[in-house]
Amino acid sequence: MYLSRARKVTWRWEGRVVLGRITPKVYAWRFDWRTFCSDTSGKLLGSNSNQATTELLDKQDSTNDVPQYDVAIVGGGMVGMALACSLASMPLTKHLNVAIIDSNPALMSRDCIKKEDPPDPRVSTVTPATISFFGGMGAWQYVQLHRHAFFDRMQVWDYTGLGYTRYSARDVDKEVLGCVVENKVLQRSLLSCMEDSDSQKRIYPSRLSSMTLNLSSSLSGSDNISSQPRTSLAKLNLSSGNSLYAKLVVGADGSKSHVRELAGIRTTGWKYPQNAIICTVEHTEDNWCAWQRFLRSGPIALLPMGGKYSNIVWTMDPKEAADRKLMNEADFLKAVNEALDNGHGPRPQSDVTSGGGLFSWLKADKASSANEPFEVPPKITKLASDRMVFPLSLMHANTYVSKRVVLIGDAAHTVHPLAGQGVNMGFGDACSLSRVIAEGVSVGSDIGEVSLLKRYESERKAANIAMMAVLDGFQKAYSIDFGPLNLLRAAAFHGVNYISPLKRNIISYASGEQRVPLFS
Ligand SMILES: Cc1cc2nc3c(=O)[nH]c(=O)nc-3n(C[C@H](O)[C@H](O)[C@H](O)COP(=O)(O)OP(=O)(O)OC[C@H]3O[C@@H](n4cnc5c(N)ncnc54)[C@H](O)[C@@H]3O)c2cc1C
Repeated sequence: MYLSRARKVTWRWEGRVVLGRITPKVYAWRFDWRTFCSDTSGKLLGSNSNQATTELLDKQDSTNDVPQYDVAIVGGGMVGMALACSLASMPLTKHLNVAIIDSNPALMSRDCIKKEDPPDPRVSTVTPATISFFGGMGAWQYVQLHRHAFFDRMQVWDYTGLGYTRYSARDVDKEVLGCVVENKVLQRSLLSCMEDSDSQKRIYPSRLSSMTLNLSSSLSGSDNISSQPRTSLAKLNLSSGNSLYAKLVVGADGSKSHVRELAGIRTTGWKYPQNAIICTVEHTEDNWCAWQRFLRSGPIALLPMGGKYSNIVWTMDPKEAADRKLMNEADFLKAVNEALDNGHGPRPQSDVTSGGGLFSWLKADKASSANEPFEVPPKITKLASDRMVFPLSLMHANTYVSKRVVLIGDAAHTVHPLAGQGVNMGFGDACSLSRVIAEGVSVGSDIGEVSLLKRYESERKAANIAMMAVLDGFQKAYSIDFGPLNLLRAAAFHGVNYISPLKRNIISYASGEQRVPLFS
């Protein structure tokens, strides 16, 4: 509608020449990203030249031109893009007019991610539930074009050497426990999947500055968006000078969410006295196992990224993290190898022959991984990326919804990364919210109504709080170095290793199923 009086012009965007169109009121341009992408993976990433385009709106100067959307997603990170992709994939919601607002250049650039590039240190361990969510909306096929590493085994132990637990996908008759994927691959895959759909979406390369909500008015959900009285919609003002109206504003803008703040939603939580240092490393042998060792200062994880690459997530006191970030490579690698094996305490003894001692009476029901001996993780030989440091906190929004506003992902909750659950919880939010929006559309409700959005909140809040409690409990249990407690933890390692129903429940829960890990 903005291009009716357009004339063709040439624009420069980040050093590249692109063809665009201009009107006196609106600057908008469309372009086919394949022009800039020579990698073979680009064949799927933008295979349909009519659909695989992104429209960028830069400016409008008249109130009449302020566009109206069904859904405005503030934040095009992994979780915001998952919601956009999920809405684009469902028959009931694909017709919705969706705006995505984010100034992250990754959403604008079509530079190909090459498999031979060194792995990015920012990775996520995604659960089988997330993989199936991605599969259902058609996004997993894009992940598979890039580097990703499934793992089917996991070993967890601590510095006391008193016990260890081995997990195997075979314990639950599955093929994998999870998959490690670079964050940029997850985000790009969702973007490509959305672009290849025939849904209506527009990306604003900008940031939310302010928001006006008219709390007293209501809409008829069946009305066409363009016939709605504008005063009943939320109005968003962006840093680029653009404004837009929306029936529903989704805050997917991370832990410091501006949407949450503008909607007046309070949070509960605390900072952990720990920072996480992350990086990619190389080792001599291939690695297909996820390793986690709890040290006095916090856990260290070695996550497979395919072949001889793995990712380190090492939690420690903030001062120590700052020092370790700056130390030379040789000293850092030595410290990592000590943290993963021969420093901070003894290796646990493999007690396969003793049948689990205290738990030997459960021998008949032993999960297959209970027979596996303790293994030493691969030796790290090289740093393959920069080291990055992140502060850690637990935060939970007191409510996820208010009139015309809903929060998802880290805007609603942040957790300790010790079990790699944060973005999986966010994907759970995106999946649930898109289903609730579809339900609203099917019965002609106003999708910005609190009564509809509360269905999403009641489903996700319970699940998220339960997961937060488990993760915070783990963090606290390992923050104390006290003899009797150490023995109790060792007993817990043994218990989990040998008590099959408990082990199966833990695996299922960590895989994204809703049940809290108790005996079934
Ligand atoms: C060290 C570490 C390791 C982790 N490992 C794992 C793991 O293995 N598995 C796992 O599940 N989780 C993991 N997590 C958690 C995971 O990274 C987060 O849960 C996830 O990044 C949250 O995604 P999000 O899209 O909700 O928010 P974000 O990734 O924070 O994205 C928010 C987006 O909003 C945009 N934005 C912000 N403000 C505005 C504004 N005003 N206007 C417009 N846009 C805005 C930003 O540009 C950004 O693109 C880890 C976290 C850390 C710190």
